[in-house]
Amino acid sequence: MKARVFSGVQPSGQLHIGNYLGALKNWAEIQSRYESIFCIVDLHAVTVYQKPEELAAKIRETAALFIAAGIDPAQSSIVVQSSIPGHAELAWMLSCVTPLGWLSRMTQFKAKAEKQETVGDGLLQYPVLMTADILLYQAAIVPVGDDQSQHLELARDIAHRFNSLYGETFVMPATHLPTVGARIMGLDDPTQKMSKSASGSGHAIALLDEPKVIRKKIARATTDSQPAVDPETMGPGIANLLSIAQACESSISKETIAGMRYGDFKKLVADAVIARLEPIQQRYREATRDPVYIESVLQEGRSRILPTAEDTIQKTKRAMGLYT
Ligand code: ATP
Ligand code: MG
Repeated sequence: MKARVFSGVQPSGQLHIGNYLGALKNWAEIQSRYESIFCIVDLHAVTVYQKPEELAAKIRETAALFIAAGIDPAQSSIVVQSSIPGHAELAWMLSCVTPLGWLSRMTQFKAKAEKQETVGDGLLQYPVLMTADILLYQAAIVPVGDDQSQHLELARDIAHRFNSLYGETFVMPATHLPTVGARIMGLDDPTQKMSKSASGSGHAIALLDEPKVIRKKIARATTDSQPAVDPETMGPGIANLLSIAQACESSISKETIAGMRYGDFKKLVADAVIARLEPIQQRYREATRDPVYIESVLQEGRSRILPTAEDTIQKTKRAMGLYT
């Protein structure tokens, strides 16, 4: 039997090159070796306010981008989180074994809470829901970007605590991180992670950006004050552009770029990104030509994994003594 993989993306904005290089690209590469579930985590997206009609459209757009990035719906299950009630149900049960202190020290909670006028309880509970996502399918491997490693560690702590209180119920998930491009930073500020929810048009390269937009964004990206690229002393802006370029085109190395003028270096980066995104954009256009197709992929994914989710809910309820 193949080990099970679970991972997700929030339909909270335009998917960017960080999501691709940190998550989707890796998913496409590993899917044949595992039984994979790739989830559009809409319940996570609403931990900060989303305009309802935009969210509904983003869910389908995200599904189409999964397919465009190389996720094969015949091989992997592509599902929407809110279409399976078990996610929210299990999250409640797990929240009852999670100490408040574990949640309030999460860096993503602190960073996202800072940007909100009123902080919803959902934002604090986010990692418990993420734990439920993983444990619901007894997933062994969770390929995420480096920004989610703290949440994954917490998921293991929650699973461990539940198992020791109520008996062995959950498989302990391990991490699985890509080696290059695990953490892509913002083009406008290379000290901040590139995020869908960040504002500013020069912050992220969206997977659906046109080539001329990509060139413009890269041309404006923050660099340092030296006249040319020096790989030994490069600042965070250049290092980020280099890791984006390398993740898109593996033949690019520190040697390739040593001594390059910034204009030439940025052209090289833009060329690598555009070449990498071109076939993805083409496949996106094909996948969205027929809206019924995306709907059928989501329904099929749901029917395939629903029995596993229901099994885990029954098992968890029995372990806790709840009514079954
Ligand atoms: P949001 O701002 O709404 O949180 P996000 O850009 O952080 O959006 P998520 O949906 O939270 O995206 O994350 C989806 C996946 O993409 C996760 O596996 C996450 O680790 C990965 N990821 C997100 N941002 C980056 C990044 N800058 N570099 C690499 N991987 C990333
Ligand atoms: Mg995020």
